[in-house]
Amino acid sequence: MYGTIQVDVDGIWTILKGSSVGDYDPVFEVALPRFLRMFDRYKIKATFFVTGNDLKVKEKIRFVHELVENGHEIANHSMTHNVDFMLLKKERKEKEIKETEKLMSDLFGSIPVGFRAPAYSIDKETLGILEGRGYLYDSSLLPSFAGPLINLMDNVFSGGDAKTKFGKAVNYFAPLRPYRPDHENIVFRGDMSIVEVPVTTCPFFRVPFHSSFLFASSPKLFDICYNWVKASKLPINYVLHGVDLIDPLGGKVKSKQPSLGLKYSCKEKTYKHILSSISRDYKLLTTKDHVKRIL
Ligand SMILES: [Zn+2]
Repeated sequence: MYGTIQVDVDGIWTILKGSSVGDYDPVFEVALPRFLRMFDRYKIKATFFVTGNDLKVKEKIRFVHELVENGHEIANHSMTHNVDFMLLKKERKEKEIKETEKLMSDLFGSIPVGFRAPAYSIDKETLGILEGRGYLYDSSLLPSFAGPLINLMDNVFSGGDAKTKFGKAVNYFAPLRPYRPDHENIVFRGDMSIVEVPVTTCPFFRVPFHSSFLFASSPKLFDICYNWVKASKLPINYVLHGVDLIDPLGGKVKSKQPSLGLKYSCKEKTYKHILSSISRDYKLLTTKDHVKRIL
């Protein structure tokens, strides 16, 4: 079976909400080299979703270049990582996508062919823009009823006011394998030219089990959901987060990000279990190569 591993790189500014750590960003300087070593160990080619804002910082660019040199794919994760992306005006969505594309093509010599909306906040207008710009795939759908619930809990505990973070409850009905969405209702199959590569959730109950969710609930959830995915013969699209592989930031910042307070050794153990399991059972490709294979 084939599958994909995707990393939301998300510079540290996306979770610090205003508090600054200066130009030093442990997501780039600490986590990305750790990802490279782990992916090398398990012979994984992955897809890294990077924001345009991060590519404007000179110190961060060389870490992304290293990913490219090691055969990983770089995809578009918008310019400003607005977690209510689907609520933005059409012109603003276009600008976020287009300007990040330009930065990527100037830096790495090729235009990205994949997109992930920040915090799974995707709608038909955004898919239409991506389709019009010739994108091969989008990977922003979390097929689960739990999106609004997780958003609510996130807002209560972190004091945020996002409305569409983690997607809508109707996303429960989206297919669990890559599909061409319908123009009017993107959670159903249709004839758009762009392919949606949904984030894998547990079949039937559609419980999310991507890495951040495991750290917010229990790492033990992984085996239950993963074995169910395998038994259902589904391709897997497993999502990891850059912030998961940094060291605790201590009292320097205020954030409720579940993985931030955990020691690296503990997160590393969970990651090694996840990656050794998936790389043992699946042939892992970049999302671009995976989509080309099934088209
Ligand atoms: Zn993100």
